Amino acid sequence: MTHPTFASLELIEPLLRALQHEGYTQPTPIQLQAIPHVAHGRDLLGCAQTGTGKTAAFALPILQRLHQKPPPPPPPQGQASRFGRSGPSRRTRALILSPTRELAAQIGESFAAYGRFLQLHHTVIFGGVGQDAQTKILARGIDILVATPGRLLDLMGQGYVDLTGIEVFVLDEADRMLDMGFIHDVRRVIEKLPKQRQTLLFSATMPSDIEQLSKQILIDPIRVAVTPPSTTVERIEQRIYFVEKADKRALLIHLLDALKVERALVFTRTKHGANRVAEALTKARIRAEAIHGNKSQNARTRALDGFKRGQLRVLVATDIAARGIDIDDLTHVINFDLPNVPETYVHRIGRTGRAGAAGLAMSFCEQEEREYLVDIEREIQTHIPRADNYPHASRLGPPPVTSLERGHHRRPAQQQQRPQQQRHPHHTHGRQDRPRHGAPRPRGEHHEGPRRDTNAPPPQRGHQPGQPSAQTPAQGQPRQHHGQPPRPQGPRR
Ligand code: AMP
Repeated sequence: MTHPTFASLELIEPLLRALQHEGYTQPTPIQLQAIPHVAHGRDLLGCAQTGTGKTAAFALPILQRLHQKPPPPPPPQGQASRFGRSGPSRRTRALILSPTRELAAQIGESFAAYGRFLQLHHTVIFGGVGQDAQTKILARGIDILVATPGRLLDLMGQGYVDLTGIEVFVLDEADRMLDMGFIHDVRRVIEKLPKQRQTLLFSATMPSDIEQLSKQILIDPIRVAVTPPSTTVERIEQRIYFVEKADKRALLIHLLDALKVERALVFTRTKHGANRVAEALTKARIRAEAIHGNKSQNARTRALDGFKRGQLRVLVATDIAARGIDIDDLTHVINFDLPNVPETYVHRIGRTGRAGAAGLAMSFCEQEEREYLVDIEREIQTHIPRADNYPHASRLGPPPVTSLERGHHRRPAQQQQRPQQQRHPHHTHGRQDRPRHGAPRPRGEHHEGPRRDTNAPPPQRGHQPGQPSAQTPAQGQPRQHHGQPPRPQGPRR
């Protein structure tokens, strides 16, 4: 059987060379299905999530189209902008909207990697950092702009961004935009785009609001849906530890040492909890940092980068902070708190065991989380193996084995959120790229879990078994690329 290659997708030579440089040998299913159509200018509705290779599925054909099509004339003379009467030397031709800063940075890195042999310029703009570095690059002129909605609207309002030359618009992770309360901002951006354009919409799930939006903004789109080849849970070794709240930190420290864990992603339910775990680990001389929405962008980038480079042994994260973050070779995921939404469990443990590699997911379950365990085991239709012989085990002993019969005594969805009073009572001053215009904030400011059960992220996908894992070219050496704003070392540079 012959395997499809990138060359069979009629990609141009500089892109094929860049893919070779990245170590990709075969297109993923979404790339196979999307690239030829997008390269010919079709609109696309892609039902896919991070981990499927969707970024390359849109970045490659966009780069190809922009390279092959002659650039538009410079902005009309005499039009006043923040750059003076003449405006920047080139007009922005492609816009990619991303819900989170981390995802935006990763998309920017993908454009840098795939476009390394082309003369197209891109930049990434997001909130939570000063705008000067970003506006300087915009003033020079860029072809491709990757942005989070809040900062984009800010800079549009100040006259730094002109969207009248946009030829391709990508709305990435549309359901997450909705979930995070950015959908009004997205609509405001869309209003400013030229009517004549190519539009690509990606979403992991299709809630009705997104379906409606897709009908409004897509014209005769091709539809691509990719489903995971095997559920993550089948490839990942799992273990459950029954331990009470007060002993969880001690058990974590014990396991990290006893199992000689070199790199672990630890999930907590709250930002405050993430800080406390990171502090306890640091005290125990385990290099750890917390990332969550209250940390500055620079602090988050630094922590993530330190983790990827192996300078940190443990990254403690809340679900939202960890969303979209792509960490290869992650061998251990630890659920310090058991999530109350079963899909979140699957999503979390899917961070490990990528590219067919081995992965171990360990979960701590305190007394009040035992009902979450029932929900999770019913969702994954398997019993999570119970660890034995570990210190700090709950004096209550293990609970009865779950009946896996679906729907049996299942709590209604609206009860799956934790009771309000259990959240930490103080206010956050997060520097999130925040929702505006009365758009709802994610419910429970300290609870970084999904806002609505129905929008809980579906299982995270890894690579196709047998496919190479993501390559990190020139690891440790920042890649110089015109258009990348100066910022601390980002992920996967
Ligand atoms: P994405 O779904 O776009 O976030 O991509 C997930 C990961 O897969 C990223 O680390 C990419 O670098 C990697 N990737 C994308 N396409 C391929 C491919 N064809 N072969 C191997 N790795 C890929």
